[in-house]
Amino acid sequence: MSSTLTVEQQLQLAVEFRVPIPQGPVGGYGEVVVRRDETGTGWAVTDGALVGLRAWIEGEDGGWRPVWDIGRAAAYQHTREYALALAHQVAEIEAANYQALLAVVADPLAHARARRYTITCPRCHTPGAEEYGEPARDSDDFADCARCHSCGLEWALDPGADASCTTCGGSGIPGAGPIGRRTPGGWEPAPTCGCREQHEEAGH
Ligand SMILES: [Zn+2]
Ligand SMILES: [Zn+2]
Repeated sequence: MSSTLTVEQQLQLAVEFRVPIPQGPVGGYGEVVVRRDETGTGWAVTDGALVGLRAWIEGEDGGWRPVWDIGRAAAYQHTREYALALAHQVAEIEAANYQALLAVVADPLAHARARRYTITCPRCHTPGAEEYGEPARDSDDFADCARCHSCGLEWALDPGADASCTTCGGSGIPGAGPIGRRTPGGWEPAPTCGCREQHEEAGH
């Protein structure tokens, strides 16, 4: 056995390279893993997951794709050199995504802390309900919501209502109950809270 290996010989022995995501999450998916196909010579840029391994695919529809979905040939399509360069790009993208995620998660809470009023639960009347942002489906927006730690009620805050109102808890609906209610004549909209009308009058 030769006592010295060239750098190229050393690299040929490697089956995996780990590229850390700068300032990424600690643990979990904190790195991008470049892997050699066990049965071939191609390399893939992967998320390193033990189960449900995903590979990074370039192009318009690019991003992380399950290897079982795209197939091994598509996943392990790169040369080692190309895969390493791509992995560094992906690490930068992932770092930016992670920072953006942190900002989105932190923002609604900061927003809530800046409020001066106390929200009172409209069901059990315990003051000090927590305001939080409920992620809206299929968008980056958040709906302003509140939850009572005493009885567990969660309700949406209506910008037209008085958030400090003890009748509706800022929902605009007394008791923050259902938006509709059943009457002998069928479903009817629930009554709006008095604080909402005052807000609307003040606005006109
Ligand atoms: Zn409550
Ligand atoms: Zn009210």
